Amino acid sequence: MSYDPNNIFAKILRGEIPCKKAYEDDHTLAFHDIRPQAPIHILVIPKGPYVSWDDFSERAPDAEIAGFVRAVGKVARDAGLVAPGYRLLANVGAAGGQEVPHLHVHIFGGRGLGPMLAR
Ligand code: 5GP
Repeated sequence: MSYDPNNIFAKILRGEIPCKKAYEDDHTLAFHDIRPQAPIHILVIPKGPYVSWDDFSERAPDAEIAGFVRAVGKVARDAGLVAPGYRLLANVGAAGGQEVPHLHVHIFGGRGLGPMLAR
């Protein structure tokens, strides 16, 4: 699947659509989900054009991968989620339920999150 530069997160990265920013550095942007599914629900995205975790893990340079992984940890830490605990989720492709074709890791927290998957 080739990268669609008109996806909604590409527009957020270009500043064409607003977001409630939580964190930004050279490689990464984090912002609050528009339809939060937990008291804290933050999306962390790389600034580079990667469709999914699969695309990113295959193509991204090591520096971008390291920067992104560190940023995900920092966002959760800064949100006060380490002590109570939190959940990371990256949906990949159709069966994974991915809606936006730009890699994003969901950070959920702020309450007990229950079972890992809907049963
Ligand atoms: P996915 O299903 O692709 O893993 O998750 C996409 C997420 O993006 C959803 O949780 C959805 O609420 C969020 N989302 C979609 N459009 C926007 C938007 O314009 N702004 C923000 N902040 N979140 C969005």
